[in-house]
Amino acid sequence: MEIISEIAGMRRRIAALPRPIGFVPTMGALHAGHLALASAARSACASVVVSLFVNPLQFAPHEDLARYPRDLAGDCAKLEVVGTTLLFAPDAAQMYPPGFMTSVEVGAMGGRYEGVARPTHFRGVATVVAKLLAIVTPDRLYLGQKDAQQTAILRRMVTDLGFATQVEIVPTVREADGVAMSSRNVYLSAEERREAVSLHRALVTLRDRLQEGASKAEAIEEASAKLGSLARLEYLDVVDAQSFDALDALRPPAFVIGAARFGQTRLLDNLWIQK
Ligand code: AMP
Repeated sequence: MEIISEIAGMRRRIAALPRPIGFVPTMGALHAGHLALASAARSACASVVVSLFVNPLQFAPHEDLARYPRDLAGDCAKLEVVGTTLLFAPDAAQMYPPGFMTSVEVGAMGGRYEGVARPTHFRGVATVVAKLLAIVTPDRLYLGQKDAQQTAILRRMVTDLGFATQVEIVPTVREADGVAMSSRNVYLSAEERREAVSLHRALVTLRDRLQEGASKAEAIEEASAKLGSLARLEYLDVVDAQSFDALDALRPPAFVIGAARFGQTRLLDNLWIQK
């Protein structure tokens, strides 16, 4: 696997890569969820490009940018195993040199759910992904269902801005107890980690009760009761899979979505109801 940190070097190398190129953007601290994306790219594409960039634009000033987990050597070893062709690992000065001022405004979809707690987050995500797409020019972009709202927003961006890439969504990879894998799970204390599974349980209850015909209010009430005593719920809802508009009843394709804080750590999860 080759590692490149400069945009000019990337352009030269990309021009010579066999196509189709599959691209997996990440912030590193890689786990089996990220690797599932790279493996999906490996099985469908001639070349697999992964980016590793902890994007300052998507963190608010009070968030965890400085302490976000970083492990370049470990990440490289994992990416080799799954057959990555090229790793793009720029620094912030490379991505945002002095004078950088352009950003991608994502519209109403970016202001709900995750956007309430993190008002500038999706603008930061869309801006960096647009820049990465311009550099990598992939045929396929691989995104995780784990961040369902992000996938809906980026799919919209790819259509709206005319990027010539196909968006592929890879199902969420979970720990044995059902907790969605996340680089931020390392922040959880042992007790918080034990309770984190209650968010997944709440989503399962929400989905099952809606499928059984309960009203949304009833289903959300029952689901909330599954949350552990340490959990501070931010939202539970059922939304249209494409628009992320709230639904009053289950109408697939949809996501049941939830976010809760366990101590200082904010976890989000969802279940995809395709039909
Ligand atoms: P991140 O490094 O957190 O920005 O995530 C990079 C990509 O990996 C995003 O498309 C995420 O949705 C995806 N991802 C993160 N966790 C998981 C998971 N547990 N299962 C599948 N994909 C994931």
